[in-house]
Formats: sequence, C-alpha cells, structure tokens
Amino acid sequence: MSTTYDLVVIGAGSGGVRAARMAASFGAKVAIVEEYRVGGTCVIRGCVPKKLYVYASRFHDQFDVAASFGWSVEASFDWRTLVDNKEKEITRLESAYVANLEKPGVEIIRDRAVVTGPNSVRLVGQGTELTTRYILVATGGRPNKPDIAGAELAITSNEAFDLPALPHSILIAGGGYIAVEFATIFAGLGVHTTLIYRGDCIMRGFDEDLRRGLEAGLIERGVKLIYQTTIDSLARDGSDVAVTFSDGVTAPYGAVMFAIGRSPNTEGLGLDQVGVKLHSDGAVAVDAWSQSSVPSIYAVGDVTGRAALTPVAIREGWYFAETVFNNNKMAVDHSQIPTAVFADPELGVIGLTEAEAATHGDIDVYLAKFRPMMNTLSTRTERMILKLITEKDGGKILGCHILGPGAAEMIQLVAIPMGMGATKADFDRAMALHPSAAEELVTFKAPSYTYRNCEKVGG
Ligand code: FAD
Repeated sequence: MSTTYDLVVIGAGSGGVRAARMAASFGAKVAIVEEYRVGGTCVIRGCVPKKLYVYASRFHDQFDVAASFGWSVEASFDWRTLVDNKEKEITRLESAYVANLEKPGVEIIRDRAVVTGPNSVRLVGQGTELTTRYILVATGGRPNKPDIAGAELAITSNEAFDLPALPHSILIAGGGYIAVEFATIFAGLGVHTTLIYRGDCIMRGFDEDLRRGLEAGLIERGVKLIYQTTIDSLARDGSDVAVTFSDGVTAPYGAVMFAIGRSPNTEGLGLDQVGVKLHSDGAVAVDAWSQSSVPSIYAVGDVTGRAALTPVAIREGWYFAETVFNNNKMAVDHSQIPTAVFADPELGVIGLTEAEAATHGDIDVYLAKFRPMMNTLSTRTERMILKLITEKDGGKILGCHILGPGAAEMIQLVAIPMGMGATKADFDRAMALHPSAAEELVTFKAPSYTYRNCEKVGG
C-alpha cells in the first residue's frame, strides 16, 4: 500500500464513491477509506433496503383491493425471507460498487480514518499515516437518539432492517420521512404501529394538503398517531419495552424506534483540530464548490448538512472531482430538488409549497383530488392529490405536489420541465395520456383558487 496520494476520500457512500471514481478517471491517485461497508447509508441501510421493504409492505394494499377485481388471495408473510433476500441484493450492489472503484484504479482501504492535518489522514486500525494533496470528507450522518433513560433499548433505522423477528407492535418516534416510511413498512407487514410526534402533524415543511392526506392514509392503514407528546423514558418489561410518555402514561411495545433526525459524522474526525469550520450541529461548512475553510479539505454529502439525499451527494461528489481534478469549476444547484416519501400513500414534491409561494407574489393554485382508479371497484375512499402552483395567469410553474400511487415517478419527470422554467402554457400544450393520474397535470383549466397580495381568493 502506498501512503502518498492526490486524494484521500473518507467514506465510501454515495458522495465519496462518485468523487473517488471520477477523480481517478481524471488521472488522480486516489484512496478511499471505509470503516463499515462500501456503498454507505443508501445502499446498505438507507434508500435501497428501505424501498425493498416498502415494496414488501405494499402487497398488503394490493391484497386488500384484489377481491374487488374478483381475486381471492390467502396470504402470509415471512420476515426472514425478506431480510435474507435484501441482504443478498445489497451484497450484490456492494460488490458492484467495489468493482466500479477498482476499475479506474481507486485503492479501497477498510479502516477508520481521522484527519491529522491539511494534507494527512491517519488510519486508526493500521496506525498508518497517509499523505495527500486533497482530503474529501464524505462521512455521511448517523441517526440521533434522545438523552433519556433506557434509550439503549430502542432501535434506529440502522437496526430496523435486520431485526431477528418482526415485533408484535412498534412505537416509532418522529414525524419526518424516515419515521413515516417505517410506519408504512411495519404497518403493511402486519405490525401494530404507533407514530409519536411532538408537533401537531407529520411531515413539517411539506404542503399542508399533502400532510393531511398522508396522515389520513396512515390512519386508514391502521397506524395510530400520537401528537404533541414525547417519550420520557424506556424500561425493559419482559420481552417488551415499557414506554413512559410526557403525559405520564406508560405502555408496553414490542419495539421502539427513534427516527428523530440525523447528525453529521464529524465527531472524533479531527476536523476542528486542523481548523475546519463546522456549523453548530457539527456539519462541515463548505462553499458552493464544497471547499471547507481549509483549502485542501473538501466535503460532500450528508456531512455538509445541505440536502441529505443520495442524488445530491452524488452530484456534489461529481462536481468536486470536476472542479479539483478536471479544471472545470462546477457548483451544484440546490434550488430545485425533487423529493419523494415512500410512505403509503406516496408523496412526490418539487418547488415551493402553497404557503411558501403565497408569500412570494400573486399565484394560482390548481388542485385535483380524486379516488385512484385502482380503488374505484373497492370500498376504499382514499383520495389522490395533485397540486400545481404557478405564477398568476398561467405563468411559471413554482411547485408541484403529488400524493398517491406513482407520485415519486411522476415528480422525477416534472423536474425536467420545471428545471427548464416551464409555464402553465407549456404544460397545457402537452397531450394528455388517458387514463392516467398524471394527465390531471396537463388538463387543469381554471385555477382552483388564487392568492392576490398574499390573500387567498376563492377555493
Ligand atoms: P453515506 O452514504 O452515509 O456514506 C458515508 C460513509 O462514511 C459510510 O459508509 C460510513 O461508514 C463511512 N464513514 C463515516 N466515518 C468514517 C471514518 N471516520 N472513516 C471511514 N469511514 C467512515 N436518500 C434518497 O435520496 N432517497 C431515499 O429514499 C433515501 N432513503 C433513506 C432511508 C434511510 C433509512 C436513511 C437513513 C437515509 C435515506 N436517504 C435517502 C439518504 C441517503 O442515504 C443519504 O443522503 C446518502 O447516503 C448520503 O451519502 P453520503 O455519501 O453523504 O454518506
């Protein structure tokens, strides 16, 4: 093993892997240090296993409506099969990541790294010191747990994918996307699921109609919601965990999971000692080119506290490599990022919410709420929601918010015209595709209501 490099990347997740591969393809001598598994959060314990488990949980809904189409289905579920098959798939992906790093000549070092200077990194296990022109910090984040008695009895998303068995019941603390996605997963797999959130509605920051629609969808799927309450302490109660809530009530659950946010992985990394400026939450402060306050040290992905999403980390890693190793200065545009929540019902959003847009000027809101066709033969009453927010009188599209089947796939495609600055007239020109839910987006006639001088008109 050499000890002198052009680039040492710390963390082989979404951002680090892309940066390492690209830098090596531009001719740099690159090492990537990983303390756990190549692929990082997304592949090993994030997006990929999460989506697989969401697919598993959605059979429940399918079986539910199957009878209305004449099918009778007798179903049972085996958790072990899902866990084992998931493991096979992420191991396959991990191998593919390793091969993709090795192809352009990236050296993979399995160890924990700490930064010891602007141009030096120490491998904790081996005790070796590496010298390098540049360091890229791509260490991602980790799930938070509250500082309460018994917190060690609870799981986080890190453990949820590999539980030895499904619990009979689960209490999930949190109101963000990881909390509601896991509520969907566990409820769909037949676990009595309760979501506890300290606010008054899940998915803070999302469009109000979608928040309420998702809330109704979770309730319809049997998820119990406890709002404006927190967990005071946890204690062992036989094979259960006894939870004492802030209102004094104590109740047992088969498992307790915290999904209350994530913190950047900078603890013990040595960055502050070498003069790298950190934000108050520990995230690395970087400029538009991902450069930290120490010129030879860059950071990309979740550790920078920008948008904690895989495609964003990948893009930041790619642009870092272009900027530093290909003489092609590129800054990531973080302004229009499509986002999905793979709950049931699913959410896909891009751009401003109605509340945000209403403060920016005069806007028109086009809103459609209807039963998805798949449910029309059954007694299910759940509504799909599609909302377009535009500048007034057919101007630029400012936001698009979708709740229901296929929302994520639709919003990815809406991101293309929105990135091109599309107007309502551009959407209107598109021929509808029938019968589809997405055709609503190109067949809106008059606005459902408007905002003029920040005041709602009609609706
Ligand atoms: P990571 O992928 O976290 O990689 C960091 C790597 O650094 C890790 O492998 C870690 O072991 C390693 N590391 C840390 N410290 C050291 C050290 N000192 N030495 C050596 N190695 C170290 N995003 C989406 O876009 N869509 C989704 O659907 C989605 N779902 C998610 C579901 C869950 C449950 C979670 C937790 C996250 C999800 N995300 C999703 C977010 C996504 O996983 C992250 O945004 C993405 O992985 C960030 O990539 P990264 O390169 O910044 O860090």
